Order: sequence, then C-alpha cells, then structure tokens
Amino acid sequence: MKSSFRASLVNGPFQDCALYVALRWQGDALLFDLGRIDRLNPANCLRLSHVFVSHTHMDHFMGFDQLLRLTLPRDRELTFSGPPGLIDNIAGKLAGYTWNLTESYLFRLVVIERHEAHLARASFRASNGFARESLPDLPVAPGRLIDTPMFRIETATLNHRIPCLAFAVSEPRHLNIRAEVLEARGWTPGPWLSRLKAAVRAGNDDEQILVPAAGEPVRMNAGILRRELVDDQAGQRIAYVVDTLFDRDNAERIVALARAADVLYSEARFLDVDRDEAEKRHHLTARQAGFLARAAGVCRLEVFHFSPRYQGMAQAFHTEARAEYIGETRLEDEVSWAADLVDPRPVAAPSAAVSDEPHGGRLS
Ligand SMILES: [Zn+2]
Ligand SMILES: [Zn+2]
Repeated sequence: MKSSFRASLVNGPFQDCALYVALRWQGDALLFDLGRIDRLNPANCLRLSHVFVSHTHMDHFMGFDQLLRLTLPRDRELTFSGPPGLIDNIAGKLAGYTWNLTESYLFRLVVIERHEAHLARASFRASNGFARESLPDLPVAPGRLIDTPMFRIETATLNHRIPCLAFAVSEPRHLNIRAEVLEARGWTPGPWLSRLKAAVRAGNDDEQILVPAAGEPVRMNAGILRRELVDDQAGQRIAYVVDTLFDRDNAERIVALARAADVLYSEARFLDVDRDEAEKRHHLTARQAGFLARAAGVCRLEVFHFSPRYQGMAQAFHTEARAEYIGETRLEDEVSWAADLVDPRPVAAPSAAVSDEPHGGRLS
C-alpha cells in the first residue's frame, strides 16, 4: 500500500527551510516552514491547506507574503499553526499592506498558536481588511496540534533561545479490504465497506454492519468482518526538526517525537568541528542530527539547512551524519546523558539510510 504522503524539500540544503508534503489522494498539501519559496510552483502553492511554522526567524517565514499574494484572489481558507506569538507576527505582516479593495474577496486565514495546554486562535478575512478576529481557545492534549481524518500533527517545543516547534505528521492506518475474501463469500463491494472501515478505525467491533450478500443482506458484527476482511497497516510518519540546541531536554523531546518515523528531516547547521558555535547559536551539527536519528530509530534521515559558510561541502554533512546514524561514531561515548536516549533496536537499513542527494529530492 502506497503512503498518501509525498514529501520534498523545496530548496537546496544551503537555502531556506520549507518542506512540502503533498497528500496524494486529496489533492491538498501541507507546508512546514516557508522561508523563500520561489522554487515552489504556483499550482503547488494553491494546493496548500495548512502551513506549520517552527518559528518566525526570516529564513523560516519570509515566504508568507509570496503565498498570500498567490492565494489572495481565491475562495480558500489557509490555516497557519506555530508557536506563541504567531498571531501577532501574522497581524503585523498583514498590517504592512493596504486592503481597501478586497471587500468582495473570500480568502481567509486561521492562525493557531500552540501553547502548553491550549490552542490560541484568530482569524483574518480579506473581506474586512484582515482585521483580527479572536476565536475561543481550545484545550489540547500534550503534544497534539491537529487531527483530521487524513493526517495528525504532533509537536514538541524546543529551545532555540525562543520556543521553536518541531512537528511530526502521521497518516491514519491503511485499511485494505481483501478482495479474494469478498469474492469467495459472494459479498458485493459498496458503501458498507466504508462503514466497516470507520468502525474499525473507531474500535467499534460490536457495531452491526449490513452486508449485501447474494440473496438476503445479512447483519454482521464489525469485529468478525475485520478479522476476515481487513488488512491493517501502520501509516507513514514524517518528523521535521529545525533550529534547536543540542541538550538533554531538546534531545529527549526530539527522540520521543521522531520515534520510529519513516523519515526525519533535520537541520544540521554546522559540522561537528564547529560544535561550540552550534551550541552558542542554538543549532545542531550534522553529527548530532545523525545521533538523534539513530536514538529515535528512524528509517531514513535527511539533513538540510547547512550554513552557507560551508558552501560546496554538502558531502561532508552527509558523511558525518551517516557515520553517527549507523553507529560508526558514537556520540554517547562523549556525552554522558546521550546513552539513555538510544533505542536498542537496530536502525532499519543503515547502508542506504542517509540520503546522499545534495538536494534531498526537492520539488520542482
Ligand atoms: Zn532560527
Ligand atoms: Zn533557521
């Protein structure tokens, strides 16, 4: 079963942060950070339904204007989610322009701030000049941000001298109907299969499902149908971590968020030879990113957001991250607390695990 996510970095590894995740079957897309997004074509921009902002440093947020320019004439709602302060940041951006000719526009923004135990929200409509309209706060469980039928977003708040959000996007389990069983039983496919899948997702094994069999339809227990008919597979999980200090608190949060992810997109601003400077600037080195990927047992690591000072040295980042990820170098031999975080299970496919692609499969 193919995953419904197709993820690609918008820019090269020395450029601004933006990770585009297309939802294959819905036509919608998600964007994690929006530094410069000139390379993202307009058609892909117009598919966006949600944008997740780690923090509002320019290299993660300056694409806001370009995205607004493209989507403004559309009948669309775009949801931005990020750390505390995002509502003010977006209000400030919007206040920088004049909106006297947009009364008939249908475009609107919803902005969500992830606070410790609640979500603060506001909306901005083009039709009233993007005046800020407060929405009621929503309580939220730890680590959760958004749940939709097609994806779930979880967050961890990291220390970048300001709060910086890391994200994980996961898809629901894949429930596939065994066609050969359907045929053997003489059951006709139809909307009852969607009802069965909904019951399986909700864990309602006792729900009665009307099955259109040859002759008389029969009522059957969802649990019995599930065991006979449904292949249940875990969905894909992608973690996105940028701009953070390598210390025990942050590392624990990242490892918990990225645990067993299919892919971890991680910043690696510095090479480990410059680890003191990385610490001063609250950024990761390539080696630290490799360690976090190994500790979390992720299947694949993509490093990016390299400092321009290393221009032409992308391979050194991949080599350093990979050596740590496969355990050739072991950061826990040098950092006392690191051993407590390492997942004892081996990584999935070490030989091919860290992408050597200089641009991480970016989107055209
Ligand atoms: Zn930053
Ligand atoms: Zn940055």
